[in-house]
Amino acid sequence: MRYILAIDQGTSSSRCVVYDRQANPVAMAQQTITQHFSQPGRVEHDAEEIWASQSAVFLQALLDAQLSPADIAGIGITNQRETTVIWERSTGKPVYNAIVWQDRRTADDCIRLKQAGAEAMVKAKTGLLLDAYFSATKISWLLDHVEGARAQAERGELAFGTIDSWLVWKLTNGELHITDVSNAARTLLFNIDTMQWDDELLALFNVPASLLPAVKSSSEIYGQTRNREIGAGISIAAIAGDQQAGLFGQLCINAGMAKCTYGTGSFLMMNTGLQRVASSHGLLTTIAWQIGDQIHYALEGSVFVGGAAIQWLRDGLGLFGQAADSEQLAASVADNGGVYFVPALTGLGAPHWDPHARGAIFGITRGTTLAHLTRAALESICFQVDEVLQLLSAESGAPVVQLRIDGGAAVNNRLAQFQADISAVEVVRPTNLETTALGAAYLAGIAIGLWTIDELNQKWQIDRSFYQQMPPQDVKSLKHYWLKAVGRAKNWAE
Ligand code: ADP
Repeated sequence: MRYILAIDQGTSSSRCVVYDRQANPVAMAQQTITQHFSQPGRVEHDAEEIWASQSAVFLQALLDAQLSPADIAGIGITNQRETTVIWERSTGKPVYNAIVWQDRRTADDCIRLKQAGAEAMVKAKTGLLLDAYFSATKISWLLDHVEGARAQAERGELAFGTIDSWLVWKLTNGELHITDVSNAARTLLFNIDTMQWDDELLALFNVPASLLPAVKSSSEIYGQTRNREIGAGISIAAIAGDQQAGLFGQLCINAGMAKCTYGTGSFLMMNTGLQRVASSHGLLTTIAWQIGDQIHYALEGSVFVGGAAIQWLRDGLGLFGQAADSEQLAASVADNGGVYFVPALTGLGAPHWDPHARGAIFGITRGTTLAHLTRAALESICFQVDEVLQLLSAESGAPVVQLRIDGGAAVNNRLAQFQADISAVEVVRPTNLETTALGAAYLAGIAIGLWTIDELNQKWQIDRSFYQQMPPQDVKSLKHYWLKAVGRAKNWAE
């Protein structure tokens, strides 16, 4: 029993990674899942498919590692957050597809609640904003649109869960209906001070308490598997939302430590320790994790278009064949040649918050080449991350000195160096970039006593660190032009 298995249920795929006693990955299996877009603005997943794919990759990962379920000391679960499933307690059947975090169908409900003046209370209790992104209005929508669901819920016949709850229910054959604090904190129903489901929030969103799972810490043995397909008797020992698991996988375990995941978007999270820090610039306050009695809080900020800017150059414009080509192209010129690309392809988030902004390229001259444009796209990822980073520093009152990076675009050395240059922080890239699954495995191993945080700190390995090399006057000029470009891209769509 020397292995830990991480279940990583993401928006686009279900994955399982098996780790040995040293927390080294020994096998990984992955299956993509179907995205259902029934109407514009709607995104759904089939919860049964999520389970089927997850149990398939579970068995595949064991097979690849040449292990049996008896070799697994514990399971850690990490998951796409906020995505909402409601199922029947008696049959375990979902009443409808899962409504995915990206789904905007309840945007008008949120606007109505805002107009009724509810946002201040919601923000004070949950640390979040009143937005369709979170679970509460999705639950209410399901109860009101699936025939008979509200009456069934009132009779206590239905269960709600984010994806972690759904997976634990399946793993335990309906024995456990639980979630962890990091997932509960994303529902808009959980009070992050009292650490309880909140009656006032339940009333506001019209959600019966009988639907809700029990809320547990992020690292403890909740129970054992009881599932015929994957086997019985394996301890389920950790649950954390994907970004929080990523923060833990980067071992950002003390106040002031921050990570950025450079994927389609860029996702920043900063551990604020035992302090809950409120934001007045649209960052989210959330729970990072609970281990034992200790609760760590986090500040979170996201950039909508990060690596997707490179994707757009590749697929939309056909400028190069692979995202990785961007590194060499960008390095083939000495600088951006005065070109600034504002990738506001879906509007701008923190700190500009302008849904009407659109993508724009400025500073084009007759000397501008494909390489300059590519360089500008890479730089735009870093400028946007820098803006959120400055907010994290300002709002937490503790300047970020080191940024730990992961995600698909973090392999790009140009990008990492430019981030260090303009943000004046040490940018650290670990050898294991699969930090989400790793974080879930770390949390599970802690729960079963396989390792301690100190031991993990000793095992954690840096691939490369990047430090500021650019003269301050160059940084100043770059940021000046970036802000000028952003100003001109704002308020475009009418
Ligand atoms: P997600 O999990 O959001 O799907 P990934 O973490 O797999 O994303 O990262 C994929 C994104 O990173 C894509 O948008 C892609 O354009 C970008 N990307 C991948 N490799 C590189 C690279 N070497 N340089 C720059 N961007 C890259």
